[in-house]
Amino acid sequence: MTVTTPARPSTAEDVERALACDDPGASTLAALLSPAASTYLEEMAQRALALTRRHFGRTVSLYTPLYLANHCSNGCEYCGFASDRPQRRHRLEPADMVREMDALNDLGFEDLLLLTGERTQLADVGFLRKGVLLAAERFHHVGVETFPMTTPEYARLADAGCSGVTIYQETYDPVLYDRFHRWGPKKDYRDRLEAPARAMAAEMRTVGLGVLLGLADPIPDALRLFQHASDLRKRYWRSGIALSFPRIRPEPGGFSPPFPVDKAMLARIVFAFRIVLPDVPLLLSTRELPAFRDAMAGLGITKMSAGSRTTVGGYSGEKPDDAGQFQVSDERGVPEFCAMLRERGLEPIFKNWDRIFQGAGNG
Ligand code: SF4
Repeated sequence: MTVTTPARPSTAEDVERALACDDPGASTLAALLSPAASTYLEEMAQRALALTRRHFGRTVSLYTPLYLANHCSNGCEYCGFASDRPQRRHRLEPADMVREMDALNDLGFEDLLLLTGERTQLADVGFLRKGVLLAAERFHHVGVETFPMTTPEYARLADAGCSGVTIYQETYDPVLYDRFHRWGPKKDYRDRLEAPARAMAAEMRTVGLGVLLGLADPIPDALRLFQHASDLRKRYWRSGIALSFPRIRPEPGGFSPPFPVDKAMLARIVFAFRIVLPDVPLLLSTRELPAFRDAMAGLGITKMSAGSRTTVGGYSGEKPDDAGQFQVSDERGVPEFCAMLRERGLEPIFKNWDRIFQGAGNG
């Protein structure tokens, strides 16, 4: 992956040109993320709003995560499921999965994201496939956010009814990546970097990319994320891309992010990506506080989770006895969240037909 580094710091004129640009690219993004853009937040918000309305109307798609297992052999320093964290390790058995999925169906969800930690004997591709099969009987869209796989393994999941793979690079800085991924298979930077292409080669309809904000300088990471997404879009043009901007949250190990990203910077990143990738879904999870999520809904952000649990299960009334991967910040229930969207003139969408991605086969 080639990364374009701006030859000189961006100026106010560069930002104004970027805001007026009809054919945005890497240099537009660099200008909009630069310190010179910090006084243009309102103009960026207005442009992001106009583009979001043009491409997505007033809709916000809703999805929900379901952790199937929390076994993990990796040492990601920022994660509550890292193998040195004192968590109760367990997994959902098929009957538990059905109970949890039925509870999520009752809340109206049609878009389910299944999660695990690293590949282990107790949570391998076969285990995940069982979860996908059960979910595909109950949900319109099933995605997975798990360990990197081979193309044939992704194809097995696609065959079982999985249509989306989310795999964040966490940071595109290889030195910091190596530092924060202390041990385990996830130390392999390149294997992870190439996993989205393998998923697309297996004809997954959507692939979610992202960086974990707080691990590294957010500006170069955002530029590399853009480059990664652009390369994949060119190569696998029939698949769709979605982007997320998770910020590090408190977790049981007490990790403190070395590059904290404040709300203004996060908003700027979202607006900048909306401007350069006007038709790409941008996601915001319950990691963020209600007030920020409310403000960003429909303003660049077009897909959101709601009522989320980061424990293994936890939706069906059974009290989970693990501490979760991280603390959620927005604990509102689904009806309350939907009411907020409607009050703001937005329409919560549970079923996304994704017509644009229906074509099969990547060239
Ligand atoms: S981020 Fe994922 S791979 Fe890393 S420790 Fe947590 S669950 Fe395991």
